[in-house]
Parts: sequence; C-alpha cells; structure tokens
Amino acid sequence: MLSPVTNTLDLERAHTSGVYIKRELEIVRGEGARLWDADGNSYIDCVGGQGAANLGHAHPAVIAAIQRQSTELISCPEIFHNPVRAQYQAALCAAANMPRVFLCNSGAEAVEAAIKFATLATGRSRVISTMRAFHGRTLGALSVTWERAYREPFAPLLMNTTHVPYNNIERLVEVLDDTVAAVIVEPVQGEGGVHPAADGYLHAVQALCRERGALLIVDEVQTGFGRTGSLFAHTQDGVQPDLLCLAKSIAGGLPMGALLIGERVGALQPATHGTTFGGNPLACAAAAAVLEVLTTTDLVERTRERGEAVRARLAANLPASAVREVRGRGLLIGIELRNKVAPVLRALQQRGVLALPAGATVLRLLPPLVISDDDLWTAVEAIEETLSNAV
Ligand SMILES: *Cc1c(COP(=O)(O)O)cnc(C)c1O
Repeated sequence: MLSPVTNTLDLERAHTSGVYIKRELEIVRGEGARLWDADGNSYIDCVGGQGAANLGHAHPAVIAAIQRQSTELISCPEIFHNPVRAQYQAALCAAANMPRVFLCNSGAEAVEAAIKFATLATGRSRVISTMRAFHGRTLGALSVTWERAYREPFAPLLMNTTHVPYNNIERLVEVLDDTVAAVIVEPVQGEGGVHPAADGYLHAVQALCRERGALLIVDEVQTGFGRTGSLFAHTQDGVQPDLLCLAKSIAGGLPMGALLIGERVGALQPATHGTTFGGNPLACAAAAAVLEVLTTTDLVERTRERGEAVRARLAANLPASAVREVRGRGLLIGIELRNKVAPVLRALQQRGVLALPAGATVLRLLPPLVISDDDLWTAVEAIEETLSNAV
C-alpha cells in the first residue's frame, strides 16, 4: 500500500531508487537561466540541467517545435521513413561535417553505439580511454569510464580497456597497437574535473589512430552544442572524429543522443544495432529547433567571449588560499578548490545560485548559454564572496 504522504520530498524519499544524492530543494519551474522552487524563490541556474539546457528553460523555439510535432506524430520507429527525422539528420550531418548518423536516447547509448561500430569496423576489440574520463553508466560506457567508485562494483566489466593519462601522448604511443579498435576521448573532461585538452593533444591522438588503424571516438556529450564557444569543441582542436558522440543539450532537454559516423567506419550491416525510441519525431523536431537557434544566432560566438571574461575575472579575484586553479572552455568552467566543494555549493544555494561539483574539490558551472549578463555576473560575484568567506 502507498503511504498517505503528499509532500514531494517525503514521496521521493519513500519511492526513489536511492542512487541519487538529492538536495533539499523542490524545483517546479524554469525560464531562461532561472529556476523557481516550490516556495516561489528564484535561483540563477549554473547547473543547466547537468548540461542538457544550453538553450535554457522554456525556450520559445523548443516549445513551439514540441507543441507542433506532438499533435502530428510522436512515435515512428526507424523501420519507416519520416520527414522530420530525415531533415534533422541532414541538418546535423551538415553542421558536424560528417556523412551519417545513428540516433538514440542518451549519452551512454551514443558511447555504446560508438564502441560497437568501432568493433565492427575494425574487427578489433580493445578500446583505449583516458584517466578521469567519464563516458556514462551502462556496462560498455562504464568500462571506458575512469572513476573507480563507479566501476569497481561491476568489475571486470565488458570491454578490454586500457586507461592512459589524459594529455599524455607518450603513454598512448606505447599501448596503441594493432589490437585496438578505438581511442575514446573528451575535448574537455567534464565530470572528471573540467580539464581541457592541451594544444595539439587531440591532433596527436588522431594522427596515431590513423597510423595504427584505430578509430578516433570523440565524446562531446557535454562539450557539444555551443557549450565551449564552438558548435562542437573538437573543431577548436582541428580534428576530424571517426565517431562523434552527442547528447545532453541536443534536443532542448528532451532525452536524445546521436552518434555521427565518419568515412573511416565503412558500411554498417542491417540488424547489428538499433533502438525503439531512437529518431522519434518529437525529439527530432525539438533537436532541429535547437540546431537552428545555435547556427543562426551569435549565441555560440558570445559564449566563447563571455566564458573567457568570466574565467579571467575569477582567476584575478579568487583568493589563492581557497582556489588552486580556474579552468575551462566557453561556459564550461571548473574552479579547483583547496577544500571540499560540498559546503561551497550549499552556501551558493543560500545566495540563490545553483552549481555543480566535478569530483570532490572542483566547483563546476554549466549555465544555460542564454543566461543574461546580469545573472552571469551576479553568479560570479556570489562565487567570489562565498570563496572569500570560506577561508
Ligand atoms: C553525461 C555524459 C555522458 C553520459 O550521458 P547520459 O545521457 O547521462 O547517459 C557521457 N559522456 C560525457 C562526456 C558526459 O558528460
């Protein structure tokens, strides 16, 4: 029998799986880069749906697309052709400069598909990933993720994987032999603490992959769709992925993922992979609206400038007694603290700013790219005051 509680927090405590650490906060509404709790308090959102809300909350173009498509057709498995999907796939391939795409429903699924396709294309089974990498929680994606606490309960996992230090090409030279199907890498390690690729690193990884017959999988689930000041971050590194994983902000907050497929992958045979919800017209319509906004406005360009300005100011103003380093690209910003981040997150929430951790000591900011200058600088000020008081 269900208990008679009606309070949201109690209901969730009674029935949620237990796998999430939850904050004492009930969010009921959002608009742009603002969120409101059940008591009507407003917050500046630097969580950005954990990266899924680059266009913010209640974006008019996304609302219109969802409303329109929901009355037309929501379900349409890929055994049929569909015009909304066809148009979106063409637009996404053009924007990413890659010929083919497989549509799915999450970041982990995009990574799973990438590993399967790399295995099929090369006839090899080993995958090389990097230390501090995060690629998702399903068993295949988890195999290439680094964090021991996530992986160890499920060891030995599925894939024959090797983790090498990020931004270190020498170790990769040693382990990348002719048993390796692919190297998977993020242009900026997000969950792992906001570590951007060093100049020339991704380029060297790509060159080595080509030389030794392995494929390059670039995971842009977090860095994609304008977050770093380019539509896709890897273009800043001048590389051409063989497989490009996308999700999070792809469809304005609706669950969706995509795997872009390059020429080196070759033909894929029918029935080697698939998904029921992948490519459904509702997600495709929302995603088409998102892509249109990102490619026809100056939002992405401004993200680069505003991210640089925020990082420069934080680096200049934050006390060295509390902060080790400020890192990032665009509006993916990490502040590495000398102490634990959890109390800082609570203090910021008290001041009306919601932010994320990336590991135990990194404060991570993922504000919607549509955040107003006022809200952005108010959030920066709150962080400066909180970290100045924290010492
Ligand atoms: C979030 C994330 C994933 C996993 O995406 P889900 O949609 O949560 O499965 C994979 N890779 C990166 C880089 C991510 O940030």
